[in-house]
Amino acid sequence: PDLPAAGDKSSPMMQQYIEIKVAHPDTLLFYRMGDFYELFFGDAEVASRALGIVLTKRGKHQGEDIPMCGVPVDKAEDYLERLIAAGHRVAVCEQTEDPAEARKRGSKSVVRRAVVRLVTPGTITEDRLLEPGRPNWLAAVARRKLSDGEFVYAVAATDISTGRFIVSEAPATALMAEIARLEPREIIVPDAIHDDDGLRAFWDEHRSAITPVAHEGFDPASSERRLKEYFGVAELAGFGQFSQSELAACAAIIAYVERTQLGSRPPLSPPVRAAEGSGLAIDAATRANLELTRTLSGERAGSLLATIDRTLTPGGGRLLAERLAGPLTDPAAIRARQESVAALHEDVALRDRLRSLLRAAPDIARALSRLLVGRGGPRDLAALRDGLSAARTIGGYLESAPALSPELAGARASLEALDPAWGEALAAALSDDLPLLRRDGGFVREGYNADLDEARLLQADSRKVIAALQARYAEESACRQLKVKHNNLIGYFVEVPQAAGEAFVRPPLNDTFVHRQTMAGTMRFSTVELSELQSRIASAGDRAQGIELAVFDALVELLGRHAEAIKAAAEALAVIDVSAGLAELAADLGWVRPQVDDSLAFDVDGGRHPVVEAACRRNGVAFVANDCDLSPPGSAKWGRITLITGPNMAGKSTFLRQNALIVVLAQMGAFVPARSARIGVVDRLFSRVGAADDLARGRSTFMVEMIETAAILNQAGERSLVILDEIGRGTATFDGLSIAWAAIEHLHEANRCRSLFATHYHELTALADRLKRVSNATVRVTEWHGDVVFLHEVVPGAADRSYGIQVARLAGLPPRVIARARDILTELEKSEREKPVSALIDDLPLFSAIAARPAASDAPSAPDMLRDALDAILPDELSPREALEALYRLKGLR
Ligand code: ADP
Repeated sequence: PDLPAAGDKSSPMMQQYIEIKVAHPDTLLFYRMGDFYELFFGDAEVASRALGIVLTKRGKHQGEDIPMCGVPVDKAEDYLERLIAAGHRVAVCEQTEDPAEARKRGSKSVVRRAVVRLVTPGTITEDRLLEPGRPNWLAAVARRKLSDGEFVYAVAATDISTGRFIVSEAPATALMAEIARLEPREIIVPDAIHDDDGLRAFWDEHRSAITPVAHEGFDPASSERRLKEYFGVAELAGFGQFSQSELAACAAIIAYVERTQLGSRPPLSPPVRAAEGSGLAIDAATRANLELTRTLSGERAGSLLATIDRTLTPGGGRLLAERLAGPLTDPAAIRARQESVAALHEDVALRDRLRSLLRAAPDIARALSRLLVGRGGPRDLAALRDGLSAARTIGGYLESAPALSPELAGARASLEALDPAWGEALAAALSDDLPLLRRDGGFVREGYNADLDEARLLQADSRKVIAALQARYAEESACRQLKVKHNNLIGYFVEVPQAAGEAFVRPPLNDTFVHRQTMAGTMRFSTVELSELQSRIASAGDRAQGIELAVFDALVELLGRHAEAIKAAAEALAVIDVSAGLAELAADLGWVRPQVDDSLAFDVDGGRHPVVEAACRRNGVAFVANDCDLSPPGSAKWGRITLITGPNMAGKSTFLRQNALIVVLAQMGAFVPARSARIGVVDRLFSRVGAADDLARGRSTFMVEMIETAAILNQAGERSLVILDEIGRGTATFDGLSIAWAAIEHLHEANRCRSLFATHYHELTALADRLKRVSNATVRVTEWHGDVVFLHEVVPGAADRSYGIQVARLAGLPPRVIARARDILTELEKSEREKPVSALIDDLPLFSAIAARPAASDAPSAPDMLRDALDAILPDELSPREALEALYRLKGLR
């Protein structure tokens, strides 16, 4: 939004506003005025559009109306939530002194205000604003030039809501894959990187998440200092070895966190460096195509994640999502995770017990972070109380388990490291019913603090004293309507109807009652006793609140001292939840533990597509399991490259994807939907499936397809798995066929990777005879009464025909179009090899044939209707009487 310039004639308040606004140009400024946050100028226009609230005006600035809109303070969270979701950043500006103070300085002076918080998508901690089962990454990018002139990019990312902090470095293509993996809510990008021509299209895709920063934020010289200072260490070596760009990216995160949190320091863990190549590389297109964490339309429901998620805690949900988004490549690390799942798969009783406890375990990681950045409330303390106690019980359960995996044993150790005293301190201090906010008070248990009890007693007593006073005053004044009331302006006062009030301003009553106000119909008086009481109550209230806040702070301080141990316990709970959830899933759906090793094998027996199978189950249809064997020659039933032909709807894509998903599941450490599986670790997964137009970027389907195919042919290696669905379809037949042909040869000779290649070009099946590592498979179909029936069974061999017309018929193409297509097909097949297609078109006038028919435009001609009616008759299903009626009907059509 345009920034207004302060003018001499601006009101003092507007001058203050503009000063603050100028310091926060990229944010919407919530400017506190009484019970509202007001927005002015361009901010008001943006916010009123984004929130659908009324745009009004207030005063003038340099002769122009000032646009304004406002949101009530008590509803502010709702509006913040919507603005953040829409990708906005908000600066919250509060009054930092009592208006009375300002008035003392002079009639024209403005209440002091200051920005107390910057709310940005990547730095939020409120449960309301966060998705429970999804990490909320704030990422920063930096880069350095190698000696050959190429850049390498570092991506640092932190989740402030849990303290996770990671960093890695890789070339530009991997930068994009890393961003696709993390799906950060906010990405800090220095201008130089943002303006790089090669990356511009990429940043455009993430536009709403990007926060550009000037280059200085990444100054390598100060990066190290900044990190050392934040983590309070003299040397960073203890955290690992970092490159200069990694340090710069981490420092950029720290700088941004400090700037947005305005001094308070979220308890971030020191950055953990991911070794290059330690994960299964999945590029953004493949990730999207496989619908790992969200579907192509952007929803979580229907994704692989949603299908396999049996976790019970938000922390477990986040860890599962992270593991799914970043499968491993080290067989030993994968096996370590599998062992945890296996242990809980076998020990059903332990799994059930753990899961029943996890179900009630609160999100301690996020509650702790909120408390430590000063935005926590009493309920966050309660979450820690309950979470810590659940954690200890769970640790105890694991204690008695006979066989634990090393990973689970590690988790148990983290849980046992929790000192029961912390949870007990919380339990002793907190009441049963807790208010949302600290300042509401009443969250400290009675009997916890003697001073607090005394202050509360005084408050309670004083109320009794007031009731007694009211009775006495009423009696003494003989005014039964007399009431003792309270308001914020004059405190406690006596109120009587105006008619009775006359007596109070005359002796003897005016000795006790001092007149304060005359309202419509009533008069108000103060008394010495009431004033004394007033100050006793107020000071007791202040004291009680002060004591409660001190108790709160002491508890937060206690937790802060043990933040590392508590975070470790939260991670342990997440590991247990994920392992138990995957074990539950495997037990429930009959999944098996895959053998993952260093070989180049790929042998899946009876594999299923988890998401399609779930859909089949809901519809009461059986899913047909299929084998897939792409292992090296000698052991394999199939070739290393398998071409799959078969009609549309037969199940080719499903088969392709299911094998890619099995790799992802196996390498994230989960069990897989198969009878058995052996997988030599895959280092990169590529898929080119579907044909989504990328019109937003001005690329045709064909162009997108070729870009993705190029990436595969250039990058896939011996360890990769490549899945190609119908490449070359976006262009003319012979072009497409030639491209597909050449691509297979390249995969065979150069990439030598495991691949599945679904195609419509039956001609390609001949390649299996010429290339020794290529074989054919087809999805079986059969015909029944002229209809195609899909068996969804993948078998060796090539499809004999494509059944396109039958599928079109199933799809509801008009019968006369189907009939016509049949005629054309017969002709085409008959004349194949005899003459070129172009000559055939002369013999077979496609459109003129229809146009020449007199009735073609409207009513179908008689032979067509006859044919349609005939087609609709199923002789086997007719009774003799229906058959006779049908005959008459047909005769009538002649
Ligand atoms: P194609 O790629 O050959 O056109 P799809 O893989 O899209 O076919 O499958 C079409 C539909 O067939 C799927 O939506 C699914 O409902 C069903 N299907 C596919 N494979 C199977 C299977 N193995 N068992 C049961 N149904 C399946």
